[in-house]
Amino acid sequence: MALAGTGVFAEILDGEVYRYYSDGEWRSSASGKSVAIVNPTTRKTQYRVQACTQEEVNKVMDEAKVAQKAWARTPLWKRAELLHKAAAILKEHKAPIAECLVKEIAKPAKDAVSEVVRSGDLVSYTAEEGVRILGEGKLLVSDSFPGNERNKYCLSSKIPLGVVLAIPPFNYPVNLAVSKIGPALIAGNALVLKPPTQGAVAALHMVHCFHLAGFPKGLISCVTGKGSEIGDFLTMHPGVNCISFTGGDTGISISKKAGMVPLQMELGGKDACIVLDDADLDLVAGNIVKGGFSYSGQRCTAVKVVLIMESIADAVVQKVNAKLAKLKVGPPEDDSDITPVVTESSANFIEGLVMDAKEKGATFCQEYRREGNLIWPLLLDHVRPDMRIAWEEPFGPVLPVIRINSVEEGIHHCNASNFGLQGCIFTRDINKAILISDAMETGTVQINSAPARGPDHFPFQGLKDSGIGSQGITNSINMMTKVKSTVINLPSPSYTMG
Ligand code: NAP
Repeated sequence: MALAGTGVFAEILDGEVYRYYSDGEWRSSASGKSVAIVNPTTRKTQYRVQACTQEEVNKVMDEAKVAQKAWARTPLWKRAELLHKAAAILKEHKAPIAECLVKEIAKPAKDAVSEVVRSGDLVSYTAEEGVRILGEGKLLVSDSFPGNERNKYCLSSKIPLGVVLAIPPFNYPVNLAVSKIGPALIAGNALVLKPPTQGAVAALHMVHCFHLAGFPKGLISCVTGKGSEIGDFLTMHPGVNCISFTGGDTGISISKKAGMVPLQMELGGKDACIVLDDADLDLVAGNIVKGGFSYSGQRCTAVKVVLIMESIADAVVQKVNAKLAKLKVGPPEDDSDITPVVTESSANFIEGLVMDAKEKGATFCQEYRREGNLIWPLLLDHVRPDMRIAWEEPFGPVLPVIRINSVEEGIHHCNASNFGLQGCIFTRDINKAILISDAMETGTVQINSAPARGPDHFPFQGLKDSGIGSQGITNSINMMTKVKSTVINLPSPSYTMG
């Protein structure tokens, strides 16, 4: 049943092409050009979106600047109320949005629905958290610093930054968009969204839910087009006061080009799973399969390399192989576990890593199999550091196993990576786990579970090439604000009663 672009969503579609959102209205670009979105499963064009022009980007930036001033004056509780409304509308319309996720990024049907529901929950939580943390400021007194009397009171509170530019990646185009939109709006900012091309139509539907909730005109806008064409113009635009980006290496080049604005960068990862010989091997195998192969490995926090003690490696590899054999491989509509990867070029890249490992002598636990963008799950054993797959992020259902003879070897491999997103350790010895966690140069370490981004209010950050700043609902709200102080200077020192 085709639901996307129909019913309440009819106005976002102009013939065959989805409109972009500017000044509270759905519009077609003056460019007269569109960008095709290819369905990863059928490899045929599924949807089209507007190729917005630089003039259209200039216009949304001007509108955002004006709308933000009025929004910052809107009481916090009213901003929260609108966000709660948008969250409810989003959840109400989960079916058509999930349908887009299935068609655009081949997300398994159930996971697509979960992404939308989780996004609604994230927006509501953000509204609640914002009311709490933005409702509080600080009072400092001067006499704690040497040489001062108690004659200055400093009142500090948080103010918005202005216009936030949000650029999410294809793998969670709704969730990773609202994780930026919610904090930006509750904190009193305006928001310009540039969705990933694969996932743009799901994102446009999500934006329409905010439109239906009744946010002021111009406060939220969504411009579409290829990142390679309008990306630089957006990220280097003088109207942007903050960039929140999630994606791959593109984030590194954006960081070098962006002006003097706060950056929130969530980039790639090569999350290591270190397995000690006292670990619960069934727990390990379950987490390697879930962590490494969910959504065909296309998750920033997927397990991307297993570093396992030689003594238990055979047993774990056997258990993982048994579980991999049970995974359903096929189209996302059938709720398959392994679905086609997002583009043909991604599939080619994954294949390149696999073939390099093959040439250099890795053991293939399954036969390598690919049809179109669909790649069957593959565990590569006896991977060595001279293979590309030991270091690079495949973003696909292929997972290298490196056998280690000491914990130090595992930590060394993890820390030699240019990435530092998450990692995990499996052991029954909590003392060892803490020592290893402290030694791992990653933003988060999970003990006895695969890496994961959520729950969404937990701090989430990458070290090294994995990012700048920290996300998670509270941290994102704080990041999208600036501290403003007012100092009251008393004519004479005061004192504390009692
Ligand atoms: P990507 O190629 O870096 O694209 C991310 C976003 O950047 C897309 O919206 C893309 O738009 C846009 N873009 C492309 N070129 C641009 C430019 N010059 N200026 C501004 N924006 C530009 O990443 P992806 O393939 O979508 O996502 C996979 C990557 O994201 C993986 O490396 C993964 O690890 C990472 N990721 C990280 C996290 C995290 O939280 N750390 C979470 C999820 C994913 P177009 O689609 O139009 O090109």
